[in-house]
Amino acid sequence: MRWFDAHNHLQDPRLGNDPLEWVSAAAARGIAGMVVHGTCEGDWPEVRRLADLCPSVIPAFGLHPWRVSARSPRWRDALIECLDSAPHAVLGEVGLDRWILDQSLERCVELGIGPRGPAPLEFQLEVFDRQLVLASERGLPVTVHCLQAWGPLMDCLRGRPRLPRGFLLHSYGGSVELVPELVRLGAHFSISGHSLHPRKAWQAEVFRAIPSDRLLIETDAPDQLPPDDWVSHPATDTRGRPVNSPVNLVRIAEGVSGLLGVPIEELAAHCEANWMRFFRPPFLGETGLRVTAPAGAAGVAEAVLPSDRGGSCLGRRSERSLGPDASQ
Ligand SMILES: [Zn+2]
Repeated sequence: MRWFDAHNHLQDPRLGNDPLEWVSAAAARGIAGMVVHGTCEGDWPEVRRLADLCPSVIPAFGLHPWRVSARSPRWRDALIECLDSAPHAVLGEVGLDRWILDQSLERCVELGIGPRGPAPLEFQLEVFDRQLVLASERGLPVTVHCLQAWGPLMDCLRGRPRLPRGFLLHSYGGSVELVPELVRLGAHFSISGHSLHPRKAWQAEVFRAIPSDRLLIETDAPDQLPPDDWVSHPATDTRGRPVNSPVNLVRIAEGVSGLLGVPIEELAAHCEANWMRFFRPPFLGETGLRVTAPAGAAGVAEAVLPSDRGGSCLGRRSERSLGPDASQ
């Protein structure tokens, strides 16, 4: 079985200063690809660097709702430059978040949001919409973060042309009732290890309502730390706080398999097919064979490729440091 992480933040410094170590460790566990999501102008260059080094990394560039207030006047130009620089890049992580608006300024600073605090929802909506326009113009898939903002998100999606490549609701936390309409609007859904916490047991019903051709799994590393039983590779940040490791994906898949009541082999097959179709990874040619690694990255590529069909490049926030429902 091969596994594909639909959403992580390998560039996050909480995962240490050598993200390529995570790539090798992930490859050794059968994790053959991952989508590494930037969140702001400050981390987009590192996402780009990792994608340049690792053929199995799909870079995603987007302005996260927590980063909206800290954007520069030229954020959109910078985003376009990143997208232009990586032909196979996707758009994300973008979205809407009302949970963050209820957090204290101290808490927001702890979460890296900056002294100005989070942007009000109307500004989040403006930035989100501008990024969706970019996705439409460029024919890109979009990774969406939505926390306690389902009404505004649905209004936004209903009121605009359908996105040509659709969108992925990462770490889906919405209701079962929304699933059919979201499917019609072009949604894919990914499940994170956070859903394996016993208090999240209600989500099993939601996940079983997701069509098998719209399902993906993710770590959201270093965030969304699963319960201890579902952590195969414990990791800590530089302050000794537990963080989620990208290598936990296989163990998370085992937990999701149980939640869904679907055999693990069947889950792997669906997730791989959906990941390939949604993200259209560049490291597989039309025949399914691996294409040539970028010049200068041969050593890294050879080190991380787990098979002759694909490569892996993987890479970390802890639930305890963020709160039960917070994630980037
Ligand atoms: Zn994220």
